[in-house]
Amino acid sequence: MPLSGLEHRGVLFVLSSPSGAGKSTIARRLQASDPDIAVSVSVTTRPPRPGEVDGVDYHFVDVPRFKEMVANGELMEWAHVFDNRYGTPRAPVEKMLAEGRDVLFDIDWQGAQQLYQQAGGDVVRVFILPPSMAELGRRLRGRGTDDEAVIEGRMARAAAEISHWDGYDYVLINQDVDACFAQVKTILDAERLRRSRQTGLIGFVRRLMIKGG
Ligand code: 5GP
Repeated sequence: MPLSGLEHRGVLFVLSSPSGAGKSTIARRLQASDPDIAVSVSVTTRPPRPGEVDGVDYHFVDVPRFKEMVANGELMEWAHVFDNRYGTPRAPVEKMLAEGRDVLFDIDWQGAQQLYQQAGGDVVRVFILPPSMAELGRRLRGRGTDDEAVIEGRMARAAAEISHWDGYDYVLINQDVDACFAQVKTILDAERLRRSRQTGLIGFVRRLMIKGG
């Protein structure tokens, strides 16, 4: 629901960052703090990491199934990230928007670009930067889920991902996760208040203007 309680157009809220910049934590907190935001669960061909749950973190599929989804137009966007494929299933997003919910996407710059091409004004793109590359390296190693070769690869890719910062509407520096989360929430709340998203306003204002209404 929008803050005013009126009918509204859903926000397609994209959060991107290099791995380790804190995006997943912020996405989880946003989801937990706000029942009106639904999360788009991507499909991926990458194997699950320890603790990841199929259908919750990702839908884990093999390459033939992924290709079939692309061929059938089942994905709103898709991209190669590292050596794997990732994509956003279309049907759940359409369902969540029809239910009047906002949808959160944890996708990379290629996905943000494709979503923007399709849904333009409904998309809000937020990029989260790490405070430094040294800190990014510490966070990636601290996670302990990937081996050193994978981490090296991710560090190398991080610089390339960061170079796409100018394809975003908002760019935040995640120095402190609480402060960064608060900023993300502020952006979402403000975007919900945009006149163009508050489709219920026309009726509301009409009623306001009826004499004695
Ligand atoms: P990870 O393998 O660490 O979960 O994700 C690697 C990267 O893939 C992250 O930057 C994440 O945002 C991106 N990603 C995850 N799902 C999708 C998706 O559906 N589409 C696109 N384009 N990127 C995705």
